[in-house]
Amino acid sequence: MLTFRTPLEIPDRPKMEADVVIVGGGPAGMACALRLSQFIDEHNAIHPETPLSKENIYVLEKAREAGQHCLSGAILDPRAMHELLPGFETEAPIEAMVRKEAVHFLTETRHFRFPVTPPPLQDHGNYVISINRFVKWMAEKVEAAGITVFTGFAGSELLYDGNKVAGVRTDDKGVDKKNEKKSNFEPGYDIHAKVVILAEGTRGSLTKELITKLDLARDANPQTYGVGVKELWNSPPAASSPAKSSSR
Ligand SMILES: Cc1cc2nc3c(=O)[nH]c(=O)nc-3n(C[C@H](O)[C@H](O)[C@H](O)COP(=O)(O)OP(=O)(O)OC[C@H]3O[C@@H](n4cnc5c(N)ncnc54)[C@H](O)[C@@H]3O)c2cc1C
Repeated sequence: MLTFRTPLEIPDRPKMEADVVIVGGGPAGMACALRLSQFIDEHNAIHPETPLSKENIYVLEKAREAGQHCLSGAILDPRAMHELLPGFETEAPIEAMVRKEAVHFLTETRHFRFPVTPPPLQDHGNYVISINRFVKWMAEKVEAAGITVFTGFAGSELLYDGNKVAGVRTDDKGVDKKNEKKSNFEPGYDIHAKVVILAEGTRGSLTKELITKLDLARDANPQTYGVGVKELWNSPPAASSPAKSSSR
């Protein structure tokens, strides 16, 4: 399990003020930033006399590059993306559309096709994407919308005002394995924010801390997990025909 080092005791940490900090720049964090940006654009169009700024909205992503920690899948069910960015297919990195699907039971020498494809494995009309490339593209959209994505910055601790989350401390840089400063040490920032949104994915470290501190899991269904095995195959080009398509 990945855990963050305890930030060092630094009396004068650099500070930043923020309106909103989104911790985690995966699909959820990027989608959140884009939706927030759309709300602000809508507000500013209706109320030009009280414009809202996006200048102090930040996405913190611990990977050095957006998308770098997004390695799963993926088959994209495009419904949510259609709502978020209608017509996204024309510019998003999509490898192919699923046009047929089947489940085969493989033996050493033969294969048997299932008579039906179970619903969870039916992906007709969905898109085959590299989630890594897709999230990188979403990050570009977020930045183009005027929201800053800080890559290489992990939220390492939540800041509290009593029981209220009041910001995020980013990780210290230049710390050795014994949690001691190296010559290139740089303290993390204390980002004081009006709103902190945790989009760390499953079992995020700050999320777990907050769930425990505020007992947020009380009366809630526990998170559930499944263990699966995924195998990547390199198949000869003639064996498959991914056709890029922008129409559904
Ligand atoms: C093997 C596998 C295959 C999958 N296949 C598919 C599929 O085909 N189709 C599909 O729709 N879904 C698939 N999923 C599910 C999909 O990957 C997740 O639903 C999706 O990635 C969740 O997005 P997220 O943004 O919530 O979290 P994540 O994708 O986990 O992103 C979280 C991001 O936050 C960053 N982060 C975490 N903690 C911090 C912190 N403290 N500070 C700063 N940054 C932080 C991480 O680096 C990461 O970039 C698959 C999942 C797995 C594991």
